[in-house]
Amino acid sequence: MSIKENLENINARIRAAAEAAGRDPDEVKLIAVTKTYPVDMMNEAIACGVTDVGENKAQEVRDKFEHVAPVRWHLIGHLQTNKVKYVIDRCAMIHSVDSIRLMDEIERLAAAHDVDMDILIQVNISGEESKSGIEPGELDELLSHAAELTHTHVKGLMTIAPLDEDAEPHFKNMKKLFDETAKKEYKNASMDELSMGMSGDFEAAIRCGATMVRIGSAIFGARNYN
Ligand SMILES: *Cc1c(COP(=O)(O)O)cnc(C)c1O
Repeated sequence: MSIKENLENINARIRAAAEAAGRDPDEVKLIAVTKTYPVDMMNEAIACGVTDVGENKAQEVRDKFEHVAPVRWHLIGHLQTNKVKYVIDRCAMIHSVDSIRLMDEIERLAAAHDVDMDILIQVNISGEESKSGIEPGELDELLSHAAELTHTHVKGLMTIAPLDEDAEPHFKNMKKLFDETAKKEYKNASMDELSMGMSGDFEAAIRCGATMVRIGSAIFGARNYN
């Protein structure tokens, strides 16, 4: 299958999942996850209509950026404070914010570069040891802190479901947390975006309210990490 055919297939599945859930398909944005794939594959996907790409490493954003056609970049993997400099002028959104320290570093560099940065708070909804992201109980502290920031804007939440069990109950819990958080009306923290769902579980995520799905291997094929 070509990237074009895979994209047509994924877009059709996104629409069908949204419609089956009684949702407007335009509420669900596809983020094509391009980590490890070469820039020519990225450019092919962009030529086929991809508007948003996701990388999980800041260095990979830095290295690929100049070689890729105009597109919105998302940083979706764990970000160390000393790597924020690689994404601050390149990414439209950072999905994986998991500490006040990281928020403050994004704010510091966004102010220095005179840019605004949209962020999502990554929540470890399943409580799995190996997963990054904050505990749900820490969310209030981070969102209260966001009220003080002027260049960094919280737009919602992100999660990764466990790969080895049914994702749907975790996505449901995440949607509940998202809705409860929206009701609290934090300053500078809108709940517009709920980023959840990958190649293996995006239809369940859409059923549960995802507004952004992050899909890589179902578009580009198996990854070669070497
Ligand atoms: C790699 C990755 C994805 C996409 O995974 P696929 O299974 O290839 O669709 C989504 N989200 C994050 C955070 C990732 O690192």
